[in-house]
Amino acid sequence: MTTAVTSESYHEITVNGMPLSVSPNHSLIQALWKSGHPHFKRASCLEGVCGSCRMMVKYCGQSEVRFVLACQSSVEAGMQVLFPQHLEKQSSALLNHRYQLPSSGADEQRLHDLFPQVAHCRHCHGCTIACPKGIDVEKGITLAHEGKLKAAGDLFINCVMCDLCTTSCPENIAPNYVALFARRTTAFNRPLPDNLAARLQALQRGELTINY
Ligand code: SF4
Ligand code: SF4
Repeated sequence: MTTAVTSESYHEITVNGMPLSVSPNHSLIQALWKSGHPHFKRASCLEGVCGSCRMMVKYCGQSEVRFVLACQSSVEAGMQVLFPQHLEKQSSALLNHRYQLPSSGADEQRLHDLFPQVAHCRHCHGCTIACPKGIDVEKGITLAHEGKLKAAGDLFINCVMCDLCTTSCPENIAPNYVALFARRTTAFNRPLPDNLAARLQALQRGELTINY
């Protein structure tokens, strides 16, 4: 279905295989909204933080498929866009990790118990190529496998949990959830900052009230 447009210059692009005329000079997500294309659920922050507008894009004249956040990408004539939402069902079973954070030690073994697939990384670069935030996901998985959880977690500080690395992994590793475990474990085992500890103790003693 091609959306009707006025005589102004519009860019012709393809979205999920369907031709679409969109306004230039906009981010991809804004152009899709203005064109009347049905907005996709959960896209909201427009600042590259929430990760919900991830898309696959092939630019005109290029053979490479890139993974982008639509709110951070400009519209270009001839670009082909694919919404990867249909991949979510495939990966949903991978994302259902349940665990209590350990009180001490054995974090590396625990990671391998929860994510045994980490040991099977083929170093295919698929996750790193897929990441729209430029994170070296593959390196993070290698560090996690080696038990360097803090270093692994720190690599993912800009992760927006878009799941593109997970849907790209042929070994079903779910790298962003491995990273989440690494960061949670590192933070859990780290002493609380003094001011936060004092604040929590005051809360427990009932000394802090909310002034409405
Ligand atoms: S690490 Fe994975 S989930 Fe995080 S931003 Fe990159 S592709 Fe998305
Ligand atoms: S996509 Fe999966 S198998 Fe390939 S490098 Fe990344 S974590 Fe390893």
